[in-house]
Amino acid sequence: MSKTCYIGLGSNLENPVEQLQTALQALAALPGVRLRQTSSFYRNPPMGPQDQPDYINAVVELELDMPAEALLEQLQRIENEHGRERNGERWGPRTLDLDILLYGEEFIDSTRLTVPHPGLAKRAFVLLPLYEIAPELVVPGLGSVAKLLEACDTYELEAIDLDPGNDH
Ligand code: ATP
Ligand code: CA
Ligand code: CA
Ligand code: CA
Repeated sequence: MSKTCYIGLGSNLENPVEQLQTALQALAALPGVRLRQTSSFYRNPPMGPQDQPDYINAVVELELDMPAEALLEQLQRIENEHGRERNGERWGPRTLDLDILLYGEEFIDSTRLTVPHPGLAKRAFVLLPLYEIAPELVVPGLGSVAKLLEACDTYELEAIDLDPGNDH
């Protein structure tokens, strides 16, 4: 049975906007995956170490026929193809980060996968784009995205204009 799933995308190295755009194409090209909705792209100060560039973040809604573990493998393959390096520094700079935020209404807690994503409830750069594409969504165990978002500071987030023809 197909699942509605939300993925968080982030990048702060090597043309982040392009990293997200090509990641979206790679996601859409996966067998058994349909891209339903994509949020705006948001510029956001880094979480964790502050000596790194701002991030571009977005959230995408997928409809998919794929087990969660297989999805994680595909996401990590796409990250690697985008030059993701894992140097051990927590929340350090990266070309591409793809997190499974929600997988249907499932709770998953394995060595490789925790869903809903543990950072989801506290991160404005996840909640705001999620709210943009799914304002009615309820996060299993945590309540509505709208409520979670209300409890968060969003003042540092800025939706970016992807249309180069418009200089406002
Ligand atoms: P955070 O998870 O706090 O956003 P991060 O994205 O920087 O931090 P990574 O280094 O990208 O963390 O991932 C570390 C591990 O997290 C991955 O190898 C993966 O097995 C595990 N993981 C657990 N739950 C998830 C999830 N819901 N989505 C993606 N990876 C997950
Ligand atoms: Ca992450
Ligand atoms: Ca990750
Ligand atoms: Ca513009």
